[in-house]
Amino acid sequence: MWLQQVVVRGVQIAGRRGVCTTVSNGKLPLHFNYINGERVSPLNPDPTQIMKVLEPATGDLLIELQTSGPDEVNRAVQSAKEAFTEWSQLTGLQRGRIMQRAAQIIKDRQEEFAYWETRDTGKPIYEARMDIWTAIDAIEYFSGLAPTIAGQHVPLANGSFAYTKKEPLGVCAGIGAWNYPIQMAGWKSAPALACGNTFVFKPSQFTPITAVMLGEVYTEAGLPHGCYNVVQGAGETGTLLCEHSDVAKVSFTGSVPTGSKVMAAAAGGIKTVTLELGGKSPLIVFADANLDNAVGGAMLGNFLSQGEVCSNATRVFVENSVMDQFLARLVERTGRMKVGDPMDDDTRVGAMIHQDQADKVMTYLDGAKKEGAVVACGGELVTPDDPRLKGCYISPCVLTNCHDDMTVVREEVFGPVVSILGFDTEEEVIQRANNTEFGLAGGVFTNDLTRAHRVIAQMQAGTCYINNFNIIDVAVPFGGFKKSGLGRENGLVTVEYYTQVKTVYVEMGDVDAPF
Ligand code: NAD
Repeated sequence: MWLQQVVVRGVQIAGRRGVCTTVSNGKLPLHFNYINGERVSPLNPDPTQIMKVLEPATGDLLIELQTSGPDEVNRAVQSAKEAFTEWSQLTGLQRGRIMQRAAQIIKDRQEEFAYWETRDTGKPIYEARMDIWTAIDAIEYFSGLAPTIAGQHVPLANGSFAYTKKEPLGVCAGIGAWNYPIQMAGWKSAPALACGNTFVFKPSQFTPITAVMLGEVYTEAGLPHGCYNVVQGAGETGTLLCEHSDVAKVSFTGSVPTGSKVMAAAAGGIKTVTLELGGKSPLIVFADANLDNAVGGAMLGNFLSQGEVCSNATRVFVENSVMDQFLARLVERTGRMKVGDPMDDDTRVGAMIHQDQADKVMTYLDGAKKEGAVVACGGELVTPDDPRLKGCYISPCVLTNCHDDMTVVREEVFGPVVSILGFDTEEEVIQRANNTEFGLAGGVFTNDLTRAHRVIAQMQAGTCYINNFNIIDVAVPFGGFKKSGLGRENGLVTVEYYTQVKTVYVEMGDVDAPF
């Protein structure tokens, strides 16, 4: 997803792998669990439970860390539970001030954050910088909202009244995917903390680094120890969090099948869940659209973060009368994208997160070709010139001659692959756009204002775009319809997902009891 203020906010980072002296000389501290305000060595060290985290760009070992088991998860949750009383009793203004300091510290350390985010995810450094800003924005935005979180006063008969309070839930757990690690840590922890909750986060096992750095930032900013904790591990650690009796809510980002498991695990404890899941989003380009903008939108909608983006417009429907012009421009611009070292400022396609994901994408491409799709450009494994770059690189791919029944058109590929589909009528394309179990995002390019709103009104998607795609702003809710999720992140509405309403009746007269 793309942050609009890219140019204004872009900063120069030291750049190439290993020569960036502002970032701890490229070395990482030892411990990756963050509990009670510090990095801690794991309880019950177990050599059989070591996770190896590989650097996507090089394929080399980046770090080894211990999977958090029941005792470790319990330690983190208990730390959050103990911190809850103090944190929840601060005023919103007091909480907000601490969070503002945290946002400022990240701004001061943004090069370091971006550097590690790129080494952890393989995404181009220019994108990682933007991702850091999405976390900063969330922390600043919710710090500002914190003092405004309040209930209602409801007048009743005879001078009596009721009032409501928005109370925090308690210990909230966050579970993240690997494509936007710092963004997820920020988007989940900021509203949780602003509302007076304490927080335990489990980043993806593939991208464990920046969530821990965020813990250090919060502590430096004055966040009481225990308010923000990090445990590490894969699905088993996530399940432990979901099932823990002292966890009140789970905010999850990941795939639909895992989201379903998270919901089932949380159901045992009647916990609320926020689910940000997968997608197969449509983008509709009408013949009257500004085609250069539409091509730009389709590229933003497909090629950020190597295509590993949940909201991607992987089904681009183009009105047949402009198909040739649209395709020519899309292929020309896509072919110019530089694939390679994510640490280079001008790289636009970095490394896939890991070999399995690259294999999955290539399998989808093979299948698509067998089903009749034609590769208009890209879709090849690329070997960068630098011999250190032994990760998996795939050139951005435009598929034509697609039809709606192809596997690549129906399933989430999560790679740099866009399927182009032709259409003739508005009615037809809306029906086809909605013909999916997902509903994360959708978009339309047209210069006809009436048609734009008419189409969006019928689109079954939680986040819709007119004449753009994949832009985000922290003030605007983000989330999905149908199997793409439950609840929302960002915007005022998020407060509803991190608070519970307490109703208080106040009697000003005598009790009128019929007995
Ligand atoms: P995933 O579902 O495999 O894993 C997500 C997280 O869940 C990881 O931290 C993983 O360790 C954890 N996990 C796995 N099994 C679990 C279980 N049983 N209980 C609790 N936690 C468990 O997803 P991924 O491969 O990391 O990410 C890619 C998916 O995420 C894609 O489907 C993508 O669309 C989706 N995604 C959605 C959004 C959104 O905002 N809607 C954003 C980014 C990614």
